Amino acid sequence: LSKYPGAVEFVPLHPTLPQLQEALQHCRGCDLYRHATQAVAGEGRNSARVVLVGEQPGDREDLAGRPFVGPAGGLLDRALQEAGIDRDDVYVTNAVKHFKFEERGRFIESALARFVMATVHPSAILRAPDAVRRRTDYEAFVRDLAKVARAVRHQPSPRRLASR
Ligand code: SF4
Repeated sequence: LSKYPGAVEFVPLHPTLPQLQEALQHCRGCDLYRHATQAVAGEGRNSARVVLVGEQPGDREDLAGRPFVGPAGGLLDRALQEAGIDRDDVYVTNAVKHFKFEERGRFIESALARFVMATVHPSAILRAPDAVRRRTDYEAFVRDLAKVARAVRHQPSPRRLASR
């Protein structure tokens, strides 16, 4: 059974939108808050006629404390405009309010092997929304791999072990 209670007990009774946004910052309903910078509340008027719900804040949203920022937000703005939807008529939010911090680039203890590290899949780099992001993601990927290279540099290869 999870030791986290879920969000319900952190939601005020009959809250206003600002009260709900404030309550998010104190939610301990699951463990995601532990590594996130802050909760990312929705933005927009409570009279908005369109509500867009993303899955979860990304790293940029986590730092900014706002949903749909950066290149993804720019792309959304452009798409809304082209579709004929007034940006002021849209409330944007995410279903999950805290960024899921991945333990990437660090060695973790594992029975599988001496060195185990989580990093990104190369296809995620190729899916980056723009060239700048693709380059920074690629550089972070190379940094992860360089740590692996340093760690295994003086390790005997499996073939050498087998031939002993
Ligand atoms: S993601 Fe954040 S707001 Fe949602 S239940 Fe977990 S701690 Fe609460």
